[in-house]
Order: sequence, then structure tokens, then C-alpha cells
Amino acid sequence: MLETNKLEFLETLLSTPSPVGYETAGQLVWLNYVKGVADRIHTDAYGSAAAIIETGKDRPLLMLEAHCDEIGMVIQHVDEKGFIYINRLGGSDPGIARARKVSIHAQKGVVRGIIGHTAIHLQNRDGNAKAPSWKDLFVDIGASSREEALEMVRIGDPVTYSDDVEFLSDEIFTARAVDNRIGGFIIAEAFLKLAEIRDELEINVAIVNSVQEEIGGFGARMMSYTLAPNVALVTDVTHATDSPGIDHKEHGRIILGEGAAITHGTANQRKVVERLVHLAELNQIPVQHEASGVRTGTDTDSIFHSRSGIPSALISTPLRYMHSPVEMASLKDVQAVADLMVAFAKSMSADDTFSLFG
Ligand SMILES: [Zn+2]
Repeated sequence: MLETNKLEFLETLLSTPSPVGYETAGQLVWLNYVKGVADRIHTDAYGSAAAIIETGKDRPLLMLEAHCDEIGMVIQHVDEKGFIYINRLGGSDPGIARARKVSIHAQKGVVRGIIGHTAIHLQNRDGNAKAPSWKDLFVDIGASSREEALEMVRIGDPVTYSDDVEFLSDEIFTARAVDNRIGGFIIAEAFLKLAEIRDELEINVAIVNSVQEEIGGFGARMMSYTLAPNVALVTDVTHATDSPGIDHKEHGRIILGEGAAITHGTANQRKVVERLVHLAELNQIPVQHEASGVRTGTDTDSIFHSRSGIPSALISTPLRYMHSPVEMASLKDVQAVADLMVAFAKSMSADDTFSLFG
């Protein structure tokens, strides 16, 4: 179980909606938590944020990166009766949307609504039974006309599920948007720990919470250009494949609560990955392994080839039910990712090159 202040931060971070393109509220929660120990804060035009520890000029910079945005929906159309038609923001699944409570983040504040679900008695046999597409889904905010609805919301307002965080045990919690606000929590925890031992560090450290990952890794691209780190460790969620119905032969074997997942291949630079595996063994940090054959599907893909190439590696938190309002993760895994990041920062010397040829 976490200390009270950490638990409060985690719950606030997870509960503050940050749909793609509208991440600032969550970013302020995050910055507020880390700024006290940072030497410098950097934010950019699209809302990505960084906190930096500078131990010495001309020392190499290690970037610990996560994305702060969450998937959601967006208002596309309001009909004559005041029903609101939505589309996806990022990879939301229309198959799980019906009968859920939503929050519309409108100009004047949050407007509550529900995604309509026609009663089972009234459904056509070939109607509601099949998975809907976005054009079949509508939000009901209790308005009786288009005019009334448009006094409360407008086209383009982002929408998120109303679900908050809940602990099912001391370790296991479920929430909306664990993907990837848990990453913001992890890099913040690593940063606070590194600030305590800053005199032992031979490098500078930037933690970066990037916007707009869910639609293409754009915030990470901007921030890695600006900060030009020498090495990057990225953290995101990965699929835990231990719930029923998932074929390990097809999707690999990642177990909730059995440690941080280290990804091998593609964007993950071999020497950085080897260092992580070695440090996990040395410090008895539980890790699991997964393979990337083409892309990692994370910000790592945006970072590693920026400028002249940034040696990068991905360390993930296993997550069940990804891109649903009931994503599930374990604090054991969260701790393992943070510990591995801290161990890596401590291991780095000013002349580490991670060259594949030396
Ligand atoms: Zn993610």
C-alpha cells in the first residue's frame, strides 16, 4: 500500500480527465506534485510538460517519459431532440460504450450524461444485439431540444467516462485512463527518489509527460526534439494477457503483479535493454519480457529516431482491459517500473555512450 500523500496524488491524477488534446488539467496536477524538487520546469505549445534535475552543466541528459493523455470521445452532432452524437478520440471501443455514464468537458464546466441503451424489451432482434459503431451511439444529457443542449455543450467538446479509481485490494486497482496516467505517477515517483540522492548522480534527469500519444506520439516527438536527451526510458502500459480468453502463443505471456515488462527489439536499443535486464537482476526488481517485431505502439517509436537517434527502451506496466473504463493494474508492477528507472539513473556515468560497437 502507498503512503497517504502518494495515494492521494495517484487518485487525483487518475481522476482528473485528460482526453487527447485537452490534457492541461491533469498536467497541472502532475506539475504541482513534482515542481518542488525540480531545478527547472519546461512546458510547450501543445501542453507537454517536463521537470528537470540539473546536477551539472554539460552532463548527459536521461529522459524518463510517459504520456499524459487518455482516450475519450468528442461531440460531433446534436440532433433536433437534443441527443448528442459522438465519435472517438483515440482508440476508444464503441462496443463497450452503451449504458455508461459520461462527463462532457464543456466551456462552462462538466455536463453529465449517459450513453443511451434501448431497453432489452424494445430492441429489434438484429438491432442492439450487434456491436454498435459510433454513429449508432448517442449521449442523453436530459435536454429536450437542440437549442437546450447547445446552451450546455458545443460541437467539439471532449467526453470521457465518469469512472474513477477504486482499489480492489491493497495492490490491485481499477480506473479509467490508467493508460497512461500511471506513467505520469511512475516518472514522478522516480523523480522524487532521484532528487533525494541528486548528489550521487553523474547525469541530469528530465521527466517528461507528453500529450497526444494516443493519436500518434506527437507530444513525445516535440519534447525529445526540444530537450535532446542522450538516453530515454519510456513507460507506458502493456497488455496483461492473464485474463480469460487471451492466447499466449499469439500475444505473449504477461502476468498482472509479476513485474515490469521490458520490451526487446525494434526501437529498444540493445545496450540500454541489456543494462535494464542486468540492473533488475542486481537489485532483485521483478521483470517480465516481451517482444516487439515492428512497432512498440508507444512514444518509444517517436523518440528513438528523433534528431540523430536517441538510445531508448520501453518499460511497461501490465494492464488488464486496456482502453476500457475499468482498466486494472497492480501497485507491485508500478513500483517495479519506478525502481528500475531509479536504478538506471544511478548506474549512468557521464561517459556512458551505449555504443553497440564498443
Ligand atoms: Zn498508452
